[in-house]
Amino acid sequence: MATAAQKRVNLAVSRVIPPVLLGAVVYASYAVTKPLCIDYLIHPQPSYNRSPRVGAGAAILVLHYVLLIPVITTYARLLYYVTWKPGYLPLGAERVQEEASKPSSKRHRRKRTMKKAGDAEKEARRQSDPEHGLDQNAGGKAFQLDSEGLERFYTKDVFVCQEDGRPPYCSSCCQFKTDRAHHCREVDRCVRKMDHFCPWVGGVVSETSLKFFIQFVVYTSFYCILVFIASVYFTAELRHNTGSVNPYWCVCIGLGGFFGLFTCGMTLSSLQLASLNLSTIENLNRGSAIWTLAVRVPEHLLERLWVSESPWAPPFRMVSYPAKPLSPPSSPPSSQTQIDAQPAEESTPDRHVFAILQTLPGENPFDLGSAWKNLRQVMGDSVAEWLLPLKQSPCADHTSLESAYALGPVVTRLKQEAGLEAAPPPPPPAERCEARNHRR
Ligand SMILES: [Zn+2]
Repeated sequence: MATAAQKRVNLAVSRVIPPVLLGAVVYASYAVTKPLCIDYLIHPQPSYNRSPRVGAGAAILVLHYVLLIPVITTYARLLYYVTWKPGYLPLGAERVQEEASKPSSKRHRRKRTMKKAGDAEKEARRQSDPEHGLDQNAGGKAFQLDSEGLERFYTKDVFVCQEDGRPPYCSSCCQFKTDRAHHCREVDRCVRKMDHFCPWVGGVVSETSLKFFIQFVVYTSFYCILVFIASVYFTAELRHNTGSVNPYWCVCIGLGGFFGLFTCGMTLSSLQLASLNLSTIENLNRGSAIWTLAVRVPEHLLERLWVSESPWAPPFRMVSYPAKPLSPPSSPPSSQTQIDAQPAEESTPDRHVFAILQTLPGENPFDLGSAWKNLRQVMGDSVAEWLLPLKQSPCADHTSLESAYALGPVVTRLKQEAGLEAAPPPPPPAERCEARNHRR
């Protein structure tokens, strides 16, 4: 199938591109330094019949090498993260076992590869729609709510789930998928906030490396623009004065133009998506995606729920971790609730009850409400973080107990509509009177 062939092509391209990029940079550096700045501007060769222009030559040389430093350091940083800290989710026990037994039998490996190809195809279809392709099952049967690994989900206040309140499961990695994780076909692993498979570095750009990727394409586009403009300007000048052209500069026009266009395009699209807090994969169906979220039901609401004669019926379905699903005897038939009549003595502080809420199509629960706030999740909070490839993106920090990724106004609205969070208070009576008087 095309998927396997495409995977091989991607991997082959990813091996070829880094040496090609390196060759292009070495060539451009030589062409700008020797034939342009030294032989034409600083110490013009007799054939050019021109007086020296040391200032112009030195300025271009300095600009070129000053820009080359961030190009190389951001690329090295990107390569390091893509190779050593790619943001993969850990494999499940079953897959680890399978991997361990792999070299023992060639036939087994072949069988597994074929199975994986099928899985990868399924995943490829899923990737275009993060909501509809999620596996409900682990190895063909629904997993239990007290399965190992689920505590990473129910100890947070909000997590992405399926319609039954269970987190999505990857049957290839044999592991629960955390919020915004996607299975990458090329590396056959689930990756946290995967953005895309990048042949430029031969790996997956994800939450750990997106910031360095953006820095790399921004600095490279500036570098390419400099090489392109300098080559075009002096080629035009030389042609006008002598009627000839320098082949080195002509190649630089081609390289600078091609890579400049490419990196400028990547810069604009990456910054646009980061400003919307979307990954490239999430952007594929951003207009129609519906996110299902498990949102913790506050303790005081649970107290009301456990009173059997309570007239309060929750307007949402619920799921309870880590124990068996619960449902009260007095549950109204319309509410489809999964909550059990849990005896008061069984209700321990360890229960984790979640409401299952859904966004409207096209809403992004991770959009923090402004482009500036969203960009800071990727680029950082200070000027130094934006410019230097040192610190990791704030969004790669998952220590918050609220959720794996910062949540925006969409989630606040969902909580208020469900009655899980108080709506903002109405204006005080004095202000309302004033407003009425004002209208009169
Ligand atoms: Zn996976």
